[in-house]
Amino acid sequence: MRDLPKIELHLHLEGAAPPAFIRGLAREKNIDLSGIFREDGGYAYKGFDHFLQVYEAACTVLTGPEEFRRLTLAVLEESASHGVIYTEAFLSPEFCGGADLAAWRDYLAAIEDAAAEAERTFGITLRGIVTPIRHFGPERAKATARCAIETFGPFIRGFGLAGAEMMHRPGDFSWSFDAAREAGMHLTAHAGEWGGPDMVADTIRDLRPERIGHGINASRDPALVEDIAERGIVLEVCPGSNVFLAAVPSWRDHPIADLMARGVKVTVSTDDPPFFHTTMTKEYETLAKVFDFGESEFETLLQTALSAAFCDEETRGRVKARIEARRG
Ligand SMILES: [Zn+2]
Repeated sequence: MRDLPKIELHLHLEGAAPPAFIRGLAREKNIDLSGIFREDGGYAYKGFDHFLQVYEAACTVLTGPEEFRRLTLAVLEESASHGVIYTEAFLSPEFCGGADLAAWRDYLAAIEDAAAEAERTFGITLRGIVTPIRHFGPERAKATARCAIETFGPFIRGFGLAGAEMMHRPGDFSWSFDAAREAGMHLTAHAGEWGGPDMVADTIRDLRPERIGHGINASRDPALVEDIAERGIVLEVCPGSNVFLAAVPSWRDHPIADLMARGVKVTVSTDDPPFFHTTMTKEYETLAKVFDFGESEFETLLQTALSAAFCDEETRGRVKARIEARRG
């Protein structure tokens, strides 16, 4: 499972920070983060809102471009060790210079530098999706949209929406999404992780994304599932994250297999892997165990993700060639 070539489309860069990496930085900088770690060294929190607080506390040690360069390398090395050959990460200008464009460019240069090094060293390709933080509100999202549009290119490919889903309605972010779409950016948005089918439907109507982060609660509305399948909207499903945060009661209750059976294009990702004590290998192993996924399901997931990746065609071709090379 570990060696199977994988593509991951839903990963928050800071959320993928290995705890040991954050602890090391905190020590270097004399920042006391002892409250956010468990005795065994993992991240400690209760529930989704507390998770966001711990997440933001961990981010306080990521004080400049150099920290993000090191973070990016650490995250990509870890992903590559689980067979991931292409990944898209959500990047937030809010955490990279407070959504100031000049600062964002500096952070981004450091992240891209690390991505190039990781591609050479570990054979993994990274592309970025710029995301405003939903609970920071629609006005601040506009500054993030400006950062996204100004840096859209071969590396920054998409615009997304992350953060606390139940704050604000999708339509509040239409201005930012329209601007990103007009600039030619690819679009995705978190919806239907905590919100119901109405949140997914409003997101599709008001933000018109090509992909939806999670989207699992759409499964409660058969007509909506049919609509998603017909439109070819791709769901970035993160089963381990959903189970860990109790968005679904258990793996057995997760709708991923059902959504696939109903013709929805589905991909698998880890979201914030160390926070949810998961990896891409663990996701695959659990899918095999619980839903009896085998070669054909994993191949479908891989091909769906390859087609749904926001990269340019040259990159897609390179990733495809790397998949074939891995298979010998
Ligand atoms: Zn997410």
